Amino acid sequence: MARVELMDFDRALELFEPVIGLEVHVELNTATKMFSPAPNPANDANHGAEPNTLVTPVCLGLPGSLPVVNGEAVRKSISLGLALGCEIAPSSRFARKNYFYPDLAKNYQISQYDEPIAFDGEVEVELENGRVFRVPIERAHMEEDAGKLTHVGGSTGRIQGAEYSLVDYNRAGVPLVEIVTRPVVGAEADAPALARAYVSTIRDIALSLGISEARMERGNLRCDANVSLRPRGQEQFGTRTETKNVNSFRSIERAVRYEIQRQAAILAAGGIITQETRHWHEDTGSTSPGRPKSDADDYRYFPEPDLLPVVPSAELIEELRAALPEAPAARRRRLKQEWGFSDDEFQIVANSGMLNELAATVAAGATPAAARKWWTGEIARLANAADRDASSLVSPTHVAELAQLVEAGTLTDRLARQVLEGVVAGEGSPQEIVDARGLAVVSDDGALVAAIDEALAAQPDVLAKIRDGKVQAAGAVIGAVMKAMQGKADAARVRELVLERANAE
Ligand code: ADP
Ligand code: MG
Repeated sequence: MARVELMDFDRALELFEPVIGLEVHVELNTATKMFSPAPNPANDANHGAEPNTLVTPVCLGLPGSLPVVNGEAVRKSISLGLALGCEIAPSSRFARKNYFYPDLAKNYQISQYDEPIAFDGEVEVELENGRVFRVPIERAHMEEDAGKLTHVGGSTGRIQGAEYSLVDYNRAGVPLVEIVTRPVVGAEADAPALARAYVSTIRDIALSLGISEARMERGNLRCDANVSLRPRGQEQFGTRTETKNVNSFRSIERAVRYEIQRQAAILAAGGIITQETRHWHEDTGSTSPGRPKSDADDYRYFPEPDLLPVVPSAELIEELRAALPEAPAARRRRLKQEWGFSDDEFQIVANSGMLNELAATVAAGATPAAARKWWTGEIARLANAADRDASSLVSPTHVAELAQLVEAGTLTDRLARQVLEGVVAGEGSPQEIVDARGLAVVSDDGALVAAIDEALAAQPDVLAKIRDGKVQAAGAVIGAVMKAMQGKADAARVRELVLERANAE
């Protein structure tokens, strides 16, 4: 491959304005597929099924088989459309998108074309740096997923160089909603971060609606990122490239950034951008050409003759609208206010993706400050060290219980960290671990006084200094007492008692 020149990102932004357009596919978690009663593998978090077992004649495009629209998929699509601020079409239609590919047994995909179920929406997206954008949605339409090809024998997993290919139709016919934005202008240097935050917001919306598992690494959520540049001062958009199926949030940001730098170098050298799809390479952090793509891709779309138009009643639409959960952006604003966090404090929580954990911990009885401290502090540290998700280490209920034990004075922070390690190791609830390991703070003054008297007797010089008014000297005795109590004492109380005992004798 020819060496690819990249322009410095800041320099690229001086010369050009980036324009992005995002196409996001969301797999719906319906019980069955879009047009057939086959079980929907996207509904099974384990995806454990043997290849070609979750199929019917419809998924395989066998002659004589006919599609039937899945009502649950339609309702979930309408909910998603409403959550994206879209209008819902009183009548929308399926269309055939014709193309040959072995993972598409019918030789056409049933999709929607000029009559999508939802259109003209807007999504509020907040960046990690706190900037808020309104991303315009052109449409959200229903379609079916294709099967999955596995190319065997090559070094890259691509068809080039492979000896043979395997096809699994389990995914064929899984309900999808494709959400297409209008071209997004004005993000400037934030364009890569906006692309990432947008897809992450779509994920939050899908999760809050409960319509999809929405996991990028499993392909429940997939994004194609269109990028173009226009020279400063030019009205007309530049030619776009479409980077396909970037499969992590981080990669979306990197891919958009890479395309900006690559296109800028070409344009600045007097070259032209080819309108094409591009492949993202995770390992090298770069894109390579896919297939050329004209705006008028000739898929010979025509109305699907086997299906009636989808005509949801106004009552159904209003019922689904009334059942919508709070939008993620609005929820963030509300939580920030309820919790009384500063911008920075809230941003750290939001960026760490632990908003739900925090909310659940507060709901279970912890103060917002304590919940934040544990999740973004010790738990994040343990998660990092174990290379796991914080939410998989410990439950919000247990964190709340731990915070309450600290609040009640049963545990010091130091003891609480030991208890947390026990919880993470699966030893039980915080209270059970406190009981089993005898970790509670010794709050019985009698036991403390005995230890203090012993420590004072062992260090007569220190005792003399304290009596002389050199209060700092008490540190040595406090240290000895804490050690004798194996850290299970409240240091402030020990200090009080040390001064009391030293001056009493
Ligand atoms: P395609 O059939 O090529 O996938 P779509 O209409 O499904 O076309 O999606 C094209 C996406 O690219 C949309 O999000 C659209 O807003 C965006 N887009 C169109 N023109 C440009 C451009 N010049 N620069 C960046 N994005 C663009
Ligand atoms: Mg498209």
